[in-house]
Amino acid sequence: MPTTKKPDVGRKPRPKKCPDCNGAGEITETVRVGVRKGRATDDRQTAMCLTCWGSGEAPAD
Ligand SMILES: [Zn+2]
Repeated sequence: MPTTKKPDVGRKPRPKKCPDCNGAGEITETVRVGVRKGRATDDRQTAMCLTCWGSGEAPAD
C-alpha cells in the first residue's frame, strides 16, 4: 500500500484560547474570608470569564 501524504488542507483556523480562562470560558476563584487577612478557604466559586465573556476565545483585539 503506497503511503501518500495528505496535503495539509482542511485545517480549521482555530480561534486563540482565552489566556485568562484557558479556553474554558469560566474561571474558578478561591473564596476568601476575612477583611484583613483574606484567608483563602477551600470553597471555590466559578465565575464567567470576563475576558472572553464565556466564549473561551481570546478577544480579537
Ligand atoms: Zn476567558
